[in-house]
Amino acid sequence: MARLKLLHEPDPRLRRVSVAVTNVDNAVRQELADMKETLEHLEGLGLAAPQVDILRRMIICDTKNFPTDEGVPSGGPRFLVMINPKITSRSSEQTTLEEGCFSLPDTPVAVARPETCKVTFLNEDGATQTLQARGLFAKCVQHEVDHLDGVLTIDYLSPLKKELTLEKLIKLKRKSSTTLSSP
Ligand code: ZN
Repeated sequence: MARLKLLHEPDPRLRRVSVAVTNVDNAVRQELADMKETLEHLEGLGLAAPQVDILRRMIICDTKNFPTDEGVPSGGPRFLVMINPKITSRSSEQTTLEEGCFSLPDTPVAVARPETCKVTFLNEDGATQTLQARGLFAKCVQHEVDHLDGVLTIDYLSPLKKELTLEKLIKLKRKSSTTLSSP
């Protein structure tokens, strides 16, 4: 297993639409294992493959972060894998949550999203599964699925706020690359 490097906005790779997984094979499972190791280290709610430069439609969620009544399968593995996740229905009720994102360092964004959603996906054995997610878990699934379509939380901001946030991120990125390259 290997820990993977995160991409940070602005990076054109974060804006691409990821491709569907056609065959859940050992190569795919290895990438998922690396994603799990990365998320375990980061201690976050979830991770989407394009955030670590894998342009495949795969997300993982760390189930230990979600209350048991939010729809996480009980007794399953810690890291819930969703391959080719598709949100098939959403509640009309929306709630707003300040969402953090590993691709947007130090940039929490308040996003209004449906409170519940239904998602269909393949598991690591290639079997189709469906679950109904609520609350924080539902937000996490929707946030990660957005990544697969090249959508980030800052896209929900007004154009002006988005521009200002992007400027901040560019400065932050420049600063961190200078720090890295200095002796
Ligand atoms: Zn994110």
